[in-house]
Amino acid sequence: MKRVIVCMKPVPDPKTWDRLKMDPVTKTLIRQGIPSVVNPLDKHAVEAALEVKDLFGAEVVLLSMAPLDTRPVLREVLAMGADRAVLLTDKAFAGSDTLATARILTQGIRNIGDFDLVMCGNFTLDGSTAQVPSQVAELLDVPNVMHVCDMDISNTNRLLLTQKIEQGFIKLEAEPPLLLSFTKEANKPRYISFMEILAAEKRDIHIWDNAFLKIDETLIGLEGSPTQMADLLLQTKKRKGVQIIGKPEDIARELADKIHQLGII
Ligand SMILES: Cc1cc2nc3c(=O)[nH]c(=O)nc-3n(C[C@H](O)[C@H](O)[C@H](O)COP(=O)(O)OP(=O)(O)OC[C@H]3O[C@@H](n4cnc5c(N)ncnc54)[C@H](O)[C@@H]3O)c2cc1C
Repeated sequence: MKRVIVCMKPVPDPKTWDRLKMDPVTKTLIRQGIPSVVNPLDKHAVEAALEVKDLFGAEVVLLSMAPLDTRPVLREVLAMGADRAVLLTDKAFAGSDTLATARILTQGIRNIGDFDLVMCGNFTLDGSTAQVPSQVAELLDVPNVMHVCDMDISNTNRLLLTQKIEQGFIKLEAEPPLLLSFTKEANKPRYISFMEILAAEKRDIHIWDNAFLKIDETLIGLEGSPTQMADLLLQTKKRKGVQIIGKPEDIARELADKIHQLGII
């Protein structure tokens, strides 16, 4: 195997989700000031790709469609041992739904060149549609195996894949070129040392815009998206938490009073 391409998406850091706000006009989340992290399942896809690299010396290319300020996230994944990273970024991509995203990623893959495997996470933490991998596979005209929880690559011509389904597992054999999407059970992403992170800081990331990709702009962005956001509503908290502070005996007394006041006992 010569080349594995890993699609990875930077997502808002879940630790900061309580700070996420909505733009009342555009009905989109305001992401400025919210740090991004690698979508957790994408790290499992990267690990799987690195296992192919370790065994066959395949080149591992990271591919992401995201804003320019997510470059540190790509560098973190480069530090795991990937060979290069490509960031697809352009104003024309903003507002893309899953199909438009898949079109952009597919054009990125075509520009990277021949591949044996494209690897994805099974779904993302934020959008969570799990649509993008199948759409990319369809556009590339390669088979797609989702829910991959185990991969045996000892025979390069025929991969043995285990797919996790609700009632159990399915064992499949499949020939590259293929697109695989991974679950968290697939492997344990490797540890990244501090020195590797430092070394990755200096590595170049290829930036490709639409002047380079030349995708018809009626097929991407908000205009090229067949799904349009009708509304986006944040959950309103119905219950209010109360924190009781003080000495244990005072806390216990106040808690008992509140329980009596509310008529719970
Ligand atoms: C009308 C509309 C407008 C939108 N506007 C925006 C916007 O302006 N900005 C924005 O950030 N999002 C926007 N979104 C969300 C955007 O469509 C999704 O974030 C994106 O298509 C991925 O979908 P998902 O997160 O459900 O991915 P899933 O299908 O759950 O992802 C599965 C896997 O596919 C791969 N993948 C998914 N997305 C990417 C990516 N971008 N790069 C590389 N690999 C990827 C990863 O391996 C991931 O683990 C919009 C959605 C709609 C419906």
